Order: sequence, then C-alpha cells, then structure tokens
Amino acid sequence: MELLKSKILTEGIIKGDDILKVDAFLNHQLDYELLNEMGKSFYETFKDQNITKILTIEASGIAIAIIAAQYFKVPTVFAKKMESKNLDGDTYNTEVFSFTKAKNYTVKVSKKFIHKDDRVLILDDFLAMGRAALGLIDICNQAEASVVGVGIAIEKTFQEGAGLLMEKGIPLKSLARISRFENGKPVFED
Ligand code: 5GP
Repeated sequence: MELLKSKILTEGIIKGDDILKVDAFLNHQLDYELLNEMGKSFYETFKDQNITKILTIEASGIAIAIIAAQYFKVPTVFAKKMESKNLDGDTYNTEVFSFTKAKNYTVKVSKKFIHKDDRVLILDDFLAMGRAALGLIDICNQAEASVVGVGIAIEKTFQEGAGLLMEKGIPLKSLARISRFENGKPVFED
C-alpha cells in the first residue's frame, strides 16, 4: 500500500538492527486517514470470506481492527495483556513472547466473545517472529473458531513470522513488506 510505504519512509525511525518505530502514525499518534485506507484494503482482500469477527491484541492492533471492522460490519475483540478485574474468570489464555519487550506474557480473551461458529480475521500492526499472531490463532483454536486469515500493516519479511503462518496454511495479507534496513532506510519487498 503506497500511502503506508510513504509514511514509513518519511516518518518511520529504525531502532537497532530490526525494529521500526512508527509512533508518528500507528503506535502512538494515529493517522485516521491512513488507518481508514488500511481498513479498506483488508476489506478488499477478505470481503468474500464471511468474516464474523475481527481479533487483535492490545494495544496497537485495536485502532487498525476497529477501523477495518466498519467495512466488515462485524465486532472487534482484542486480546488483553493486562490482568483486569473486569475480565471474567472464564477465558481462553495463551502465552506470547514479545519481540519488542523480549519477555513472555499471557494474553486472554473472554469465552463470551469467540465462538465455535466464528470465522475470524486476525489483524495486527507488525509481523516479526509471528508470536502474537500464533497466540491469537491458538485462542481461536481453543474456541474451535476458524481463522480465515491474518492481516498485517507492516511485515518484516526478514523475520520468520510469515513462514510460520504459511506452515499452518493461513492466508496472510501484509500492506507493507520490508525486506531489510539499508543505510538507515527500510527497503520494501514489492
Ligand atoms: P511478533 O509477535 O510477530 O514477533 O511481533 C509482533 C508484535 O511485536 C506486534 O504486535 C508489534 O507490537 C511488535 N513489533 C514487532 N516488531 C516491531 C517493530 O519493528 N516495530 C514496532 N513498533 N513493533 C514491533
């Protein structure tokens, strides 16, 4: 998606060897026009799949998911990372290793909100090692819901996430695919 790529080039900041900071439009300040275009693009890809629910993970996936949801006209559920007194005891839980924080954490979804007959589209901001996406897939599996696909804003193709999803046969749509960082700039795959 050209608009996203140009935002990454003009406002993205590379940290270390493998992290792209996108605080200016996706992870802290949010660009609603960009998010809206992203939502339309996910809809174009998955509109014929009878999606019944969008599943994401807090916090950065939520804005992407809810704007996309207005096109699919389905609810968005976000997996919770924090312990919450308001979350009922009956939850699907999974362990996710955080690439950016380098630690494991448990994410939870109430059993009330994902069901056996759901056809779920998983959306998130980044695909790196695939752990967040695999955790959400695990939650869908526990609920016996079908995972129709995974939609990602920014995929780093030099990390293993896409390969792991392919092994599971899950369709992946990434709006910007970064193959490497070179001279302080991301290089796009296509
Ligand atoms: P994965 O689980 O695929 O290893 O990593 C995906 C999650 O880690 C995303 O939800 C995202 O929050 C975070 N993440 C991974 N790589 C990056 C990155 O380069 N930049 C930012 N801002 N977040 C990232």
